[in-house]
Amino acid sequence: MSRIHLLPDAVASQVAAGEVVERPASVVKELVENSLDAGARRIEVMIRRGGKSHIRVVDDGTGMDRDDALLSLERHATSKIRTGADLAAIRTLGFRGEALPSIASVSRFRLATREPAGLAGTEIVISGGKIEAVRDGGDAPGTQIDVRSLFYNLPARRKFLRAERTETSHVEQLMHLQAIGHPEVAFTLLIDDRVALQLAPASSLIERIRDLTGHEAAAQLLPVADTTRDGVRVRGYIGKPGVSRSSRSQQIIFLNGRAIENPTLNFALREGYHTALMKGQYPVTFLFLEMDPARVDVNVHPSKREVRFREPREVKEAVVRAVAGTLEAARGDWREQFDKAPSAPATPLPAAGSALPEPELLPVAASQELRGDWWPDRAAGPAPPPPSPPPAENASDFRILGVLGKLYVLMENAGGLVLVDQHAAHERILFEEMRRQMEAQGVPSQRLLLPLTIRLSPREGELLTLHGETLRKMGVGLEPFGGGTFKVDSLPQFLRVGDPAGFLHEMIAELRETSSRSSALRLGEDVIATTVCRHAVKANDVLREPELVRLIQDLLACELPYCCPHGRPTMIQISYG
Ligand code: ADP
Ligand code: MG
Repeated sequence: MSRIHLLPDAVASQVAAGEVVERPASVVKELVENSLDAGARRIEVMIRRGGKSHIRVVDDGTGMDRDDALLSLERHATSKIRTGADLAAIRTLGFRGEALPSIASVSRFRLATREPAGLAGTEIVISGGKIEAVRDGGDAPGTQIDVRSLFYNLPARRKFLRAERTETSHVEQLMHLQAIGHPEVAFTLLIDDRVALQLAPASSLIERIRDLTGHEAAAQLLPVADTTRDGVRVRGYIGKPGVSRSSRSQQIIFLNGRAIENPTLNFALREGYHTALMKGQYPVTFLFLEMDPARVDVNVHPSKREVRFREPREVKEAVVRAVAGTLEAARGDWREQFDKAPSAPATPLPAAGSALPEPELLPVAASQELRGDWWPDRAAGPAPPPPSPPPAENASDFRILGVLGKLYVLMENAGGLVLVDQHAAHERILFEEMRRQMEAQGVPSQRLLLPLTIRLSPREGELLTLHGETLRKMGVGLEPFGGGTFKVDSLPQFLRVGDPAGFLHEMIAELRETSSRSSALRLGEDVIATTVCRHAVKANDVLREPELVRLIQDLLACELPYCCPHGRPTMIQISYG
C-alpha cells in the first residue's frame, strides 16, 4: 500500500505559512513589502488587538487586474522573478510568491485592488485558504488587504501568540524599520484607532530619522560619507563615539533596501568602532549598503532577514572603513570646534614637554576646586616664569578651572564648560601610545628579577601560544615549559602591578573573551586596551597643573580623544545656550 501522497494545496500553504507567518508583525512585514514593491508612495497600516483580530494594509501602488489578483493568491505565483537566473539577482523585496497564499490560508482574508486605469476593481474574500467570493470592488486605485482572526483555524499557533502589547510593539518596530528604509514613502500606523505613527514623505534620510527619533537622538549621529569600495556602496548615519545601546535594537542595516541581519556585518561594526564602543554595548546605526544583487543571496530563510555574501571579506572591509573613517573625520570637526577662541581670554599655557622649570605648585586640593580662576596660589608663591607661547599644533584655547572630586578636570573652551574624566583621558593617551609603540619597535619591557612560572589549562595555553607575537610586542616575555607550564620573565615597563601572575590570568581571561567576540585583526589592540585600562593611573591620583595641562594636550592629540579604550567618554561638553 502506498503511503506517500501529495498534500492538498490549502494544507501545503498552511505548512509554508508556518515559516512565513510567525506573528502579526510578519504579516505586516510581508504586506508592506508588497506595497513597496508595487511602488506605493503612501502606506497605511491598521492593527487591532495586537494584530490578532485585524490587520489592514492600504497602499496607493500599481494595484492588480482581476487575473493577477486571483493569481497572486496561488502558491509560487509572483510577478517579480521568472527564471532561476533571476533568483540569483533579486532586486525586489519579495520574490518567493508565498506570502499572500500563506496569509490567506491562516486567516479570514480580503483583497481589494484596482489598477489606476482599471474600470473596476476586484474584491476577493478567502477563509482559511478557500475562496468564498470574487466580485467587483476596490474603489481607490491601489490595494487594500484585510487579515482578520489570524490563525483562527490553527488553534495551536494562535495560542503561541504573545500578549497584545508584545505583538503591537513588534509591529511598531517593524514599521519604524520600513520607514527608515523608505524615507520617501508616507507611512501611517493606527493601533486600535489611535494614530501611533504618521510620517509625511521625507526629503532625506536624516529628516526621516529626526521625525522618528526626535532632534536630540538625531544630533547624536554622524553622517557616513557616501563611498563605494570594491563595488560595495556604504552610506547613512552612525552614532558618535560613546553613543551606544545595550542591545542591537538600534543597529539598523539595510542592504539594497532590505533590512537585514548578518554576523559578518556585526563584526564589521564592532571592528569599525573598535575602542569607541564599550564592551557589551552595541552601536546605533542607520547604515545603507548597496551592491550588485548577484553578490548576495537573500534566499536563505523565508523571512529574508538573513543574507549571505558571496565575498564577505570585501563587504566587511567596506563597512569597517566607512565606520572608522566616519569616526576619525568627526574628530577633525570636533577639534575645530574645540579650538575656537573662548569668549573669555584664556590663560596662556606652558608648552607640553617644554624645558621650563616646573613652577612650585600645589596639587589641586578639594578646597580649591571650582574657584573662578585656575591656580589661586600662584600669586603668593615665587614669581612664575613668563609663559612661553604654545606651539602652533597645541594652540587649543582652553582654560583649566580646577579639578572636581579629584576625578574631573573642569575646563572652559569656546563652546562652554568641559568636564574631562582624568582617568579615562589617561587611559586613552596610554592606549594610543602603547599601540604606536607596538606597531613600531614594541612596548619596552622590564625583566623580572625572579621569573615567574604559571600553570595553565590546555585551552589557556593555546591562547597564549596563539597570541605569542602580540604578547611579545606588548613586552610580555613568555616561554612554554611544556605540561601547561609557562615561564614569564618580563612584563611591560609601564605596568604598576604588584601581582604579575594575577595580571596574566586577567589578561588570559580577556583574551578568551575577546577571541569569541571580535576578529583577530584587532585582538592585540583590544588586549592592550584592557590591560592598560586596569593598570593605568588611578582615578584619585592628584595631578599638578603642568601634568593636567599636559594630560589635556596629549588627549587632544589622540586619534580618538573622546573616549577611553573601552568606549567610556573622556569628556563631556556642556554648551552655552
Ligand atoms: P512575492 O511578493 O514574493 O512575489 P506575494 O505572495 O507576496 O509574493 O505576492 C504575490 C504577487 O502579488 C506579487 O508578486 C505581486 O505581483 C502581487 N501583489 C501582492 N501585493 C501587491 C500590492 N500591494 N500591490 C500590487 N501587487 C501586489
Ligand atoms: Mg511579497
